[in-house]
Amino acid sequence: MHIPYYSFEAQHKLIREPVLQAITEVFDAQWYILGKYLQKFEAAYADFSGTQYCVGVGNGFDALQIALKVLNIGPGDEVIVPSHTFMATWLAVSAGGAIIVPVEPDPITYNINPENIRAAITTRTKAIMPVHLYGQACNMDVIMQLAAEYNLLVIEDNAQAQGATFKGRLTGSFGQLNATSFYPIKNLGALGDAGALTTNNPELAEKARILRNYGSAEKYHHTEIGLNSRLDELQAAILSQKLLWLNKWNRERQDIAAQYYAELSNIPDLVLPAVAPGATHVYHIFMVRSSRRDALQNYLTAKGIGTALHYPIPPHRQEAYQHLGFAPEAFPIANTLAETGLSLPLWPGLDQEKVAYICSEIRHFFNQY
Ligand SMILES: *Cc1c(COP(=O)(O)O)cnc(C)c1O
Repeated sequence: MHIPYYSFEAQHKLIREPVLQAITEVFDAQWYILGKYLQKFEAAYADFSGTQYCVGVGNGFDALQIALKVLNIGPGDEVIVPSHTFMATWLAVSAGGAIIVPVEPDPITYNINPENIRAAITTRTKAIMPVHLYGQACNMDVIMQLAAEYNLLVIEDNAQAQGATFKGRLTGSFGQLNATSFYPIKNLGALGDAGALTTNNPELAEKARILRNYGSAEKYHHTEIGLNSRLDELQAAILSQKLLWLNKWNRERQDIAAQYYAELSNIPDLVLPAVAPGATHVYHIFMVRSSRRDALQNYLTAKGIGTALHYPIPPHRQEAYQHLGFAPEAFPIANTLAETGLSLPLWPGLDQEKVAYICSEIRHFFNQY
């Protein structure tokens, strides 16, 4: 059996007709940037997120970058980020010139540990950037309480968790201004690059709208040093169609995860992801851990099963960040997750038979070696 790490096949079969129809409509409309398809998608995504406003931008990285700019976070300001995340979270802080303050995650949920946040707060701390990693909501109760106590801003990086909740409230609706990505394989993915900001604050939404379009609200009048980062009409129209499926596809991801939990339980040296009380998980990534990760990955590859590493090198060990002077062993939990984590196939349309095959091969590996 051949099972890729990720496949669009099943999803695309379901949405082929409406998506091609949407593409044709935009083609015929002859208006490609900042038009009615974007407005429609922004309204629909704000509604989905339980926020008042959504501002579409070019990608998730720009959404983070614009959020920091809108909130005036820059040189001299400290921003607390997870030590274990995709590089974009750190790079956005760097792009704005602020100071990265990494904080270790909880080794069980892989999400930023609020107790470590408290310990990292200084008089220069301006914001916390929690990442709902792999699709699980962070403990937003504690994070928002800490932020209130120390007068800090919160920018959620919701690139991996569209549709997840903490105590019933959707991720991307807690912080003052939040970012998400519609990179193709995200839970809600475009057919190209796209991203968005969500907020309940009309002034912040307006400023984000201006910044994404050259700092201009009125053509040729520039009130800010902006950038060019707009979600185009074609991607917006495609996203509007795919958004109709997001809840169903998230439930399907949860069903697949449930089968993994059931069929991979009680294997010594295989740690399954844990879901914290109050949080839901939409399984953007299903990462298991093992001290024999590399051997397991090689074994599964030989059996035709694709896997992935999220992420093999923690940000503090990246060449690009050597100037920050973090010792390689400075963030031991991030290091352990990088060394032991293995992401298993999980996508809408991955059927029970394939998941059963993956699980039986994993059991076989641990029985044999
Ligand atoms: C994907 C991702 C981003 C960046 O999104 P792009 O659209 O690729 O720029 C940011 N943060 C996290 C956690 C991500 O997974």
